[in-house]
Amino acid sequence: MKKLEINVPRNRESKGLKDGGHVILECSACGAPLTDCWITKPDFNIKTKLQAECPHCGDHSFEEIIKGGFHLGITDYTILIDQVYEESITGNNKVFIQTAKGAKSWPDKPL
Ligand SMILES: [Zn+2]
Repeated sequence: MKKLEINVPRNRESKGLKDGGHVILECSACGAPLTDCWITKPDFNIKTKLQAECPHCGDHSFEEIIKGGFHLGITDYTILIDQVYEESITGNNKVFIQTAKGAKSWPDKPL
């Protein structure tokens, strides 16, 4: 799998990337961290709807609207398998993120 570029030092601007902040998509049902979305081009005038599936309980995250350009990264609990782009006639493109279980199991503590 392609290594995602989330480990670029946060205080350095390289290749025109800025640190526009991170948005963590969490599962709406079990709360597992599913995807680390790092906004690297906050000045880009685009909006993208993101939603990730949850490999832990089979549900998925709420939809998050991301403004600008971004990279998608893994979390300790969840890795990324694929991204499905859905074009929308209303203008906001949607990316549905397919995931699998990561290095740590979720929940990390017994309930
Ligand atoms: Zn879940």
